[in-house]
Amino acid sequence: MSPNVKMNAKPLSDPAYEVFCSIVGAAHVLVIDDDKIRYECDGRANRGSAAAVVRPESTAQVSSLLASGADYGITFVPQSGNTGLVGSGIANESGDHVVLSLDRLNGVMNFDPANRSVRVSAGVRLSELNAAAAVYGLTFPIDLGADPAIGGMIATNTGGARFLRYGDVRRNVMAVEVVLADGHGSVVNLGRDLWKDNSFLDLKNLFVGSSGSLGVVTAATLALQPMNTTRTTAMLAFHNTHQIAPLLLELEKHFGALLSAFEGISASAMNAALDHIPRLRRPFADTPLYTVLVELAGGAALNADWLEEQLAHILSDSIADGTITDVVTDRRNDLWAIRHALPEGLRAKGSVIACDISLPRGQVFEFRDQMIAAIGSRWPDLELCDFGHIGDGGLHFNLVSQKEPPAEVKSFIFTQTVKAGGSFSAEHGIGPNNINAYHQHTDFNGLQLAGRVQRTVAPQRIGRVDFGPRSGSNNFVSVQC
Ligand SMILES: Cc1cc2nc3c(=O)[nH]c(=O)nc-3n(C[C@H](O)[C@H](O)[C@H](O)COP(=O)(O)OP(=O)(O)OC[C@H]3O[C@@H](n4cnc5c(N)ncnc54)[C@H](O)[C@@H]3O)c2cc1C
Repeated sequence: MSPNVKMNAKPLSDPAYEVFCSIVGAAHVLVIDDDKIRYECDGRANRGSAAAVVRPESTAQVSSLLASGADYGITFVPQSGNTGLVGSGIANESGDHVVLSLDRLNGVMNFDPANRSVRVSAGVRLSELNAAAAVYGLTFPIDLGADPAIGGMIATNTGGARFLRYGDVRRNVMAVEVVLADGHGSVVNLGRDLWKDNSFLDLKNLFVGSSGSLGVVTAATLALQPMNTTRTTAMLAFHNTHQIAPLLLELEKHFGALLSAFEGISASAMNAALDHIPRLRRPFADTPLYTVLVELAGGAALNADWLEEQLAHILSDSIADGTITDVVTDRRNDLWAIRHALPEGLRAKGSVIACDISLPRGQVFEFRDQMIAAIGSRWPDLELCDFGHIGDGGLHFNLVSQKEPPAEVKSFIFTQTVKAGGSFSAEHGIGPNNINAYHQHTDFNGLQLAGRVQRTVAPQRIGRVDFGPRSGSNNFVSVQC
């Protein structure tokens, strides 16, 4: 019999509970509040209430769960590292969902160093993968300030700070194993351990960025990159942002693929991190109006002194004419530690209105200027604390409020972004937090096609996102952005 559950979670029926226990063992069917709680809150502190959390340890168990869940009309929400930021990896608030956690599905990490690839279970964390890959001098080059697991990274198509050089997860996945939400728990392998393969439709990429709403990724083959053994990082201080886009082009022209990051940080975002996180070292006596973190990295044929000399050479004109007011270099990780601590700093400062937007690269700062004026005139109490992967046009246009933030701000920013030719979701994917923007800003024919694809691939409901047009009959959650 199912033990008691908390008040707003709908209890799992006894037959479903018994079947799930027979598949994964009673210790891995969690129905008590204290056991479930860490699976009910994601990287942005979105909260849900799960009827249960089930924790399979093999693809076969995932398959049996999906098949039997279909018999009981259960909607599973796949979850891996639980660092997602759009609410798509947690149950809704009314307790209808069963969270299918992949955290025990972490048994496989088979490296093929000659192929520079690895076969890996979906529940393996990025840090575990990279620690093991380092033994071979290799790395999975997606870099971010959280430690997600591979299944979730595939389902969200994680971008991160080194997108400029290596692209997102989509560009680095060779093959996926997926348990389909087809009512039978069919297992399908899509793609192969090959760098080039044009022998089939590229269906694996359907599951990349699918927000857990097309099936459960249980394993993948990932392309690996040689680790960079030589690196230099610099923070460049600017008193205005107008010369930043031309500088990016200049650095690309000079350094080509050696340029591995070009990250922007506003003074308010940097101060939020420096003021609230004591372990960070202050790079400048006075925080500049805007800072760009540049990383140059490559193999053993390079040396860091040469990289620094080359960087100094290419920046010399901008320093001489006052465009760049200060430069700090670093061969350790002190500057990156600041970059990765920005989200934590913002959360410590107040309520964050987080907008993960992107624009054509050359328009980022023009758009930013327009938005500073527009937000300032409408909501003067909000403080812009933005930062972003500006080398790829990504901008975390985050505002911090000391009170309950006005509901309409996010929708205003998303609308202005889309009007300017940008995206309201650059890299965090689609979920309850931005589903209204998805429906508002996606072409109706596109919505219809996406809905048809979803119903074909996943006729059994799974996950939190309905990619089709809204209909009165669906009860997927739509939260006001
Ligand atoms: C401090 C911080 C910094 C971040 N920085 C970045 C950044 O720079 N760039 C970036 O892109 N993201 C960033 N993120 C967001 C987040 O880390 C990514 O979205 C992450 O890759 C999600 O992986 P996860 O394993 O935590 O997934 P989860 O949170 O567990 O799930 C996320 C989504 O994937 C689905 N899912 C999970 N596992 C599976 C599976 N096995 N099969 C099918 N669907 C599945 C879920 O249903 C959900 O829709 C950041 C998050 C934090 C907290």
